[in-house]
Amino acid sequence: MSLFAKLFSDMGLLAVECRPGNRFVPLNDIPAWFHQLCSDAYPGEPLDLPALFPFIEHFLQDAEAFWQQPAGARLGSGVWTELDGQGKQHQLEAYALLYQQIRILLLVDLTQTFDARHQVYQRAREIALAQEKLVAALQREQRKLQLKLQEMLTRNAPLSNIAERIQHHASAVMVCKPDGSVELLNQALMDIYPVAAAGDASGPSVLNQWVREAETLYPEIHRVIDTGAWWEGEFESTLPDGTHKWVRLMIGPVLDEQQQVSHLVCVANDISGLREPSVELERVTDYDLTTQLPNRRHFWRVLTREIDACRASGDKLALLYLDVDNFKRINDNFDHQAGDQLLTTLSSRLARNVKKTDFIAHLGGDEFAVVLRTDRRQLDVNAVAERLLGVVRQPLTVDSQTLHVTASLGVACFPDHAADAAALMKHADLAMYHAKQMGRNHYQLFTRDLDDAFLHRVIVQKDLGNAITHQELRLVYQPQICIGDDAFLRLEALLRWQHPERGLISPGVFIPVAEESDLINQLGRWVLEQACTQARAFLDRKVPVVMAVNVSARQIRASDFVAHVLMVLEQTGLPPAQLELEITETALLEDRETYSQALRQLREIGVSIALDDFGSGFSSLNYLKNLPVDRLKIDQVFIQEIPHNEESKAITATIVKLAHELRMKVVAEGVETWEQLRFLREIGCDYAQGFLLFKPLPADEIDAIYRNLSSLRFEP
Ligand code: C2E
Ligand code: MG
Ligand code: MG
Repeated sequence: MSLFAKLFSDMGLLAVECRPGNRFVPLNDIPAWFHQLCSDAYPGEPLDLPALFPFIEHFLQDAEAFWQQPAGARLGSGVWTELDGQGKQHQLEAYALLYQQIRILLLVDLTQTFDARHQVYQRAREIALAQEKLVAALQREQRKLQLKLQEMLTRNAPLSNIAERIQHHASAVMVCKPDGSVELLNQALMDIYPVAAAGDASGPSVLNQWVREAETLYPEIHRVIDTGAWWEGEFESTLPDGTHKWVRLMIGPVLDEQQQVSHLVCVANDISGLREPSVELERVTDYDLTTQLPNRRHFWRVLTREIDACRASGDKLALLYLDVDNFKRINDNFDHQAGDQLLTTLSSRLARNVKKTDFIAHLGGDEFAVVLRTDRRQLDVNAVAERLLGVVRQPLTVDSQTLHVTASLGVACFPDHAADAAALMKHADLAMYHAKQMGRNHYQLFTRDLDDAFLHRVIVQKDLGNAITHQELRLVYQPQICIGDDAFLRLEALLRWQHPERGLISPGVFIPVAEESDLINQLGRWVLEQACTQARAFLDRKVPVVMAVNVSARQIRASDFVAHVLMVLEQTGLPPAQLELEITETALLEDRETYSQALRQLREIGVSIALDDFGSGFSSLNYLKNLPVDRLKIDQVFIQEIPHNEESKAITATIVKLAHELRMKVVAEGVETWEQLRFLREIGCDYAQGFLLFKPLPADEIDAIYRNLSSLRFEP
């Protein structure tokens, strides 16, 4: 035993023999740390351990059982904390062992290991934060330069001026065509990559290399660049000599008058210095500092590992990719901290709603991913997707405002939809993108058709400009029924596009595309003129209607918007009181001042204003008081959850009550069942619109409806 005694002492442990009658006799020298906790301990003299450490008393019962019937080599107590005479904390742990029928208790002081680990963690966290700051500063620099160049290109500044501006810049800069052919590049770029000189497009383009390299971490990069959006990210790049560097790259599109991408401005920096973390740092930097969830890098490692495992076992795996709707807009309305608070709340809700065996990560910004390793059937994936969207949708409070946030979610499965991690991610992203296109708050499973849908979008972009001249557009009219009284029949004008090859295309698909460019103004003008002409024609046939026309935010921003409305009213001779403009809530909040002014002018002459899709953006209803609005249209999302969802019912009822207090009328959209209609009647909602009552109809079916209105019974 003496050899062991020496060993225990050398290791700083205290071994104690447990003799009958709770006598605890030390078997080796008393270590210094134990003296700090108990000054009158001597080798060989019994100790009163339960009195010294009450925590041990509980453990002794388990230890007793262990000594009688050992299961395994030892039994651990778990860590507990004691204060010594100097007020210093000690982290202790005890183990029960049985050695040649001797009952031994081994006491260990873990404080030093604890402190060391804590220090490393602290330090790593500090480094991570400092790096985050450096990266943020770099990002600001890159943005500034890129915006400047974009601006110069947009106003056709001579290339020589731009060249001069970038020549000695510390960041690597390249201006190229969308196909990668180089227009301009600077010395800093040539220092990294021996690329072809400006104008000589014969060499391989570094853009293609970048996209290829970034794609493994950011499979969405193609989609982002192809749709003329701004991209930034960090990835590992291989230099011609075979070495690797971490690059932080930003790619910004420059659009020409036709809203086509004419140039790409790329700004790159070598950030390898920030990217060589120690093992400890790696552990800390595997987690997002705001949400405490695994981050993008961590996610990739897990996804790749899980896919390998599934490949070996034949199991399936589903990747759910979730993106918060309109997050930027929400974020812009609050300060940075509130945005973080929102993300943290969402993160913990999402994390609580996936199983322990599933993996959830925060990929950055407002994106989350969940990996479900499963031999379960698709059915379950749908249920998880619905549950996640459901928990995002629950109201949350930020800055003492209640928000209703929604998200869009895309799902792709291994091995059905992709053979590796990058392809799986790309397909989940495409599905998510599609879900967004279909309106918010949806999830979409990847199908091969989605690749086509993406193509479809590119076609829309190309053909929409000609749709008016080729007479491919028409309006349909959806009546609203009045739950009380109204002298008018109210109609909402809804746009339809009959594409010569692709058939009927929904406004949900092409309006967002039009909104990305000036095209929406052309379309909007056409719609207003058509709708007012039609309303006047109804009036002439003694069918008095109020015509509601959807207006996009971008239209109101046009300087001649009010003038155009006035002109159309005058030319068609439609009384202003018979025109209503529908504006979405989120659009209105974007630039409240400008819009309020335009809308006030229109209201003064009698045009009424409706707030469309109400309730999905900001339901702090306070701001409503100051808006020039006559009617609220409650978002379909809420109506469709009636009567199953108590919360949607409560929200709907609250909106109606509040609107009435503010002397506004309320329209419920998307009414599809009798139960919904009954509920709306009960809470005093003023108007209802939906497939249950009328589908959107061509103009020539409206007269008959008006004539029969009084005899129609809206009951099952
Ligand atoms: P919105 O203004 O909220 O229009 C209501 C949408 O809900 C219409 O879809 C309508 O057909 C649909 N709807 C009506 N009742 C029901 C129902 O009971 N159940 C369901 N599931 N849906 C119902 P639509 O025609 O596909 O239009 C979609 C969106 O496109 C519109 O949403 C509006 O934001 C936009 N839009 C349509 N026409 C125009 C336009 O002329 N100008 C602009 N800027 N946007 C338009
Ligand atoms: Mg509408
Ligand atoms: Mg609506």
